[in-house]
Amino acid sequence: MRQEVVYLGLGANLGDKVDNCLRALKILSSSGQNQIQAVSSLYKTEPIGYREQDWFINCVAEMVTSLSPCSLLQLLQEIEKQMGRTKTFQWGPRVIDLDILFYGTEVIEEADLIIPHPHLHERGFVLIPLAELAPDLLHPVLKKSIKELLKGIEGEGGVELYTAPPDIEMFH
Ligand code: AMP
Repeated sequence: MRQEVVYLGLGANLGDKVDNCLRALKILSSSGQNQIQAVSSLYKTEPIGYREQDWFINCVAEMVTSLSPCSLLQLLQEIEKQMGRTKTFQWGPRVIDLDILFYGTEVIEEADLIIPHPHLHERGFVLIPLAELAPDLLHPVLKKSIKELLKGIEGEGGVELYTAPPDIEMFH
């Protein structure tokens, strides 16, 4: 059976933000096709794009999956829906946002799925937690490690440590 290491970006700025992130990870791991291997610290981050909204909680998870990229995206969208995410507008408030950052070393450019995630290298709220888990991971398009990408956005601010990583046993 196919097994790939994927990195997921999670974010929430409505309701119990920390609990929303943890709940999404629990739902993912309970599906039987995914094993959560590591979760970063949780960060309190400033909204980007539309700034007139509450701050976010963001984290990154490393997961082994037997799902194809397309089926994983579908599952993430089902979880977002199940958790009560309604369509607002781009960059708007959300109960949970689930993004595929990396799927192994695959490069995918389809209408509804771009991997590596097209904005990951610009975002402190992704690179900072990702660097905790995989500082030497190589971006297959930009050919730079997460550590190097992080240097490119140094000093931007807006990302502050909120809590230590959750106990991984929570997802097993
Ligand atoms: P968002 O509002 O950030 O949740 O964006 C959701 C849209 O981004 C969906 O229509 C997805 O099809 C699309 N999308 C493209 N690439 C990705 C990716 N790597 N991870 C998650 N969603 C993606």
